[in-house]
Amino acid sequence: MNVKCSLCGRRAVIRIGYAGVHLCEEHFSSYFERRFLEATRLLRMFERGERVAVAVSGGKDSLTLLYLMSKHADALGVEVVAVLVDEGIRGYREEKARAAEAYAKRWGVELVVKSFREELGFTLDEAVSALMEDGLRYKPCTVCGVFRRYLLNRAALELGADKLATAHNLDDEAQAFLMNALQANLPSIAREGPRSERVHEKLVPRVKPFYFIPEKEVLTYALLHGIESPPVECPYIVYSLRHPLRRWLNEVAERDPGVKHRVIALKNALAPLLDRGGPFRSCRVCGMPSSGEVCKACQLRQYIERILASR
Ligand SMILES: [Zn+2]
Ligand SMILES: [Zn+2]
Repeated sequence: MNVKCSLCGRRAVIRIGYAGVHLCEEHFSSYFERRFLEATRLLRMFERGERVAVAVSGGKDSLTLLYLMSKHADALGVEVVAVLVDEGIRGYREEKARAAEAYAKRWGVELVVKSFREELGFTLDEAVSALMEDGLRYKPCTVCGVFRRYLLNRAALELGADKLATAHNLDDEAQAFLMNALQANLPSIAREGPRSERVHEKLVPRVKPFYFIPEKEVLTYALLHGIESPPVECPYIVYSLRHPLRRWLNEVAERDPGVKHRVIALKNALAPLLDRGGPFRSCRVCGMPSSGEVCKACQLRQYIERILASR
């Protein structure tokens, strides 16, 4: 790109379409970090003295969040630990996990790994082969998402974390909103904001510092700061509705750069009007938060165990 920074005239590295400016490496980095810090402050994501568990997958978004959280830990007054869930996806997860381990070590952050195999008794690969035997009544991403959220929360609890920070960005949130809308999943739209409250003593509140930041900016920041991730893709992405929605939304955004922001604005206007579901009680099986008598993770686990046992 041979365009100049709108602020200083040096070579621009990114165009911020919705703001109508081009920025150089230095001005973009400080703009990005300011947006990150502003979001954490304006939405009161952290309080001084808190312990924050950062969910890392080994992808660029979560590594960037871990980098910024460790870089600004003192300014935010928090202690940072990292948690990674190993779902057991051959050819994918082990490579991403290696990257996460290397960066956590470099930035001096403790990394705790929870695996499906140890915590649930089966890997996601095994779970998916069981799901296929029963006609794929649940999609791999649905099952994976339920268990991943469950284990991230449990890891955060065990670490005594006050908050669980995830790297979901504006694109992720816009896609999730459209998926929930297409599935008429109103409680999820109501619940998935930039921060959640402690609605159950065993539910660690979640915060999303990149909630208002487009994916393109996160990836550009990662590139400029030498944050790399192995270029492997989850093999189950083909089963997900997110995949085509992501492509479609990006196509629309090419012509209309503000569209993702407006999707999020619509979601944030709608969310308070919708029923959040619940109330939260404790799962009869595992004691963790649940909207029904048995939590979704225990239900799915029992379902998969039954198929695996019948082989
Ligand atoms: Zn500049
Ligand atoms: Zn349960």
